[in-house]
Amino acid sequence: MRLVIDSHCHLDRIEEFKSSLEGLTAAVTVGTDAARAAKAVELARQDDRVFAAVGLHPTDADRLGIEGETAALEALLSEPKVVALGETGFDTHWDDTQLAAQRDAFEWHADAAVRHALPLVLHVRDRQGTDDASQASIDALAAHPDVRGVLHCCNGHEGLVRTALDLGWMVSFAGNVTYKSASNLRDMAAWIPEDRLMVETDAPFLSPEPYRGKPNTPSRVRLTLAVVAETRGVTASELERTTDRNTVRFYGLPQSLLERP
Ligand SMILES: [Zn+2]
Repeated sequence: MRLVIDSHCHLDRIEEFKSSLEGLTAAVTVGTDAARAAKAVELARQDDRVFAAVGLHPTDADRLGIEGETAALEALLSEPKVVALGETGFDTHWDDTQLAAQRDAFEWHADAAVRHALPLVLHVRDRQGTDDASQASIDALAAHPDVRGVLHCCNGHEGLVRTALDLGWMVSFAGNVTYKSASNLRDMAAWIPEDRLMVETDAPFLSPEPYRGKPNTPSRVRLTLAVVAETRGVTASELERTTDRNTVRFYGLPQSLLERP
């Protein structure tokens, strides 16, 4: 099988990150606050396969007010291997009082994305039985038609996905698309336009089946790829060609990544 790109993981949270990339062509590691973002950039410097996204995770949105935090992130944006801003976004799963802070943090990311000509990585997680975070995301995307990005770890909210696709965004599926209960996600993965689809692990989180509940690793992106390929009626290697090409184009990764045997 050809080599594969993991479009979203957190290598700073994985021991032995080099061996976790075995068999992969490349991985985009996401640093979720200024200190972790600096670490992500450091890992990218150490390994040709690694590229970095830097930003404030929505559950850390209140760090926007910490002195020096955005200045430290801003300083990383001119690093050559920084390929995106984020993950930013909206998360009411644990605490639904943070939407205002998350809106402010999104605005900072969107503004920096325009200034640095970088795409956004968007995280969206709703409190069970509500869709406040998805609705806040729809409003935020619609208010910034000049910004493009990826819905990372697609949550299956159809209104959000349609808004994102209309605005030229990408949609990325993580290991939860393999879970038995996630038939709605698989149905959605079947109709996303071919040129908008990406796959990821979000490692060390969200291990795909049959490793659900265990720490995840970037090489397991293949298991997610296989399930998405099956729902779309294509082979895993056909889909891999598609998602690798999309990931390289979206993040502006070196074309040479696509030329491996
Ligand atoms: Zn993530």
